[in-house]
Amino acid sequence: MSVITEKKANDLIFDKISAMGHEQVVFCHDEKTGLRAIIAIHNTVLGPALGGTRMWQYASDADAILDALRLSEGMTYKAAVAGLNLGGGKAVILGDPRKDKSEPFFRRYGKFVNSLNGKYITAEDVGTSKLDMEYIAMETKHVSGLPEHKGGSGDPSPVTAYGVFMGLKASAKRVYGHDNLQGKKVMVQGAGNVGRYLIDNLMKEGAQVFVSDIFEDQIQRVVSAHSSVKVIAPQDVYGIDMDIYAPCALGATLNDDTIPQLKAAIVAGGANNQLQDPNRHMQMLMDRGILYAPDFVINAGGLINVYSELEGYNRQNALAKTEYIYDQTLAIFEAAEQEGISTMEASIRLAQRRIDAVANIKTRL
Ligand code: NAD
Repeated sequence: MSVITEKKANDLIFDKISAMGHEQVVFCHDEKTGLRAIIAIHNTVLGPALGGTRMWQYASDADAILDALRLSEGMTYKAAVAGLNLGGGKAVILGDPRKDKSEPFFRRYGKFVNSLNGKYITAEDVGTSKLDMEYIAMETKHVSGLPEHKGGSGDPSPVTAYGVFMGLKASAKRVYGHDNLQGKKVMVQGAGNVGRYLIDNLMKEGAQVFVSDIFEDQIQRVVSAHSSVKVIAPQDVYGIDMDIYAPCALGATLNDDTIPQLKAAIVAGGANNQLQDPNRHMQMLMDRGILYAPDFVINAGGLINVYSELEGYNRQNALAKTEYIYDQTLAIFEAAEQEGISTMEASIRLAQRRIDAVANIKTRL
């Protein structure tokens, strides 16, 4: 009986991998360090699969696998739309980032990354730090986003925020006919790395900025730099009078509960996976006439920054490439209208077309 159950479980994993189109999924295990990790390589048509390593205490192994599969698929689309020669990959380490880390743990993980010979390039993500990347780099060169003193590109957040700002301007252009954000009411949810730099850009432009965070010290950092920013309690974010809602905290903030409350004309922010259910909640936004700038399109600045590191890092080049998010976002809005589809669907189609076209060239002599 248990053999049958196990077989069913395995079949489900392969069904999922085959439906999502992954090339390779690697399970890493090391008894001595307690390392358990999954490296998911979704697509390498455009280039090596680059994506961060997340460390998280998952409720189950199945949750960890699904997270790795979904995140790596998202990286494929993000890189393709951003015009980078990168594929999509992502890794998850199963464990508590506050308790289970050590030098041997990450060096052992680095050896696993190295065994893929550059097919997967790792980087920082939720639960992993610059120091962890330094340990990984002791065992493999296939790691990016190292600190500046190690020859890396350092903190990607200012570049991510700049790309998000470009996405906001493109959205404004679409809705208001001009991209000047002066006087526009922008609700920035999350005063972390991305949110803070986004607010700096918005203030320079003369926008009317609202901010919310669950931690007082994060709010204080913003308010001490920009005294005119208005603070909104986390539970009041969705209902305030605003033009643009910019989610820069966690994912899934666009859901059954929040969308009906939104007074914004535009949703454009840096957080990953903003739509709790990508199909249903995208449709709900469309039904309410709210323009949605897909998250993976406008938050690609961090990836562009890391990609520049592979070519020999230069921040000005990274910012210049990130500016292209403005044109790409407008092109996606246009394609969505022409094809009668959502902006999310238009972005995925754009990514898939580029991947298919390049795959076609690669198969020819
Ligand atoms: P961060 O942890 O520095 O900031 C997130 C902030 O959100 C924190 O200050 C946190 O207190 C706050 N927050 C959490 N829950 C909240 C809530 N309910 N209401 C209001 N605030 C809340 O993270 P970050 O690096 O700024 O990233 C923000 C988002 O952007 C994440 O979803 C991340 O995956 C995504 N992202 C970041 C980058 C990057 O370069 N940092 C790149 C691409 C995508």
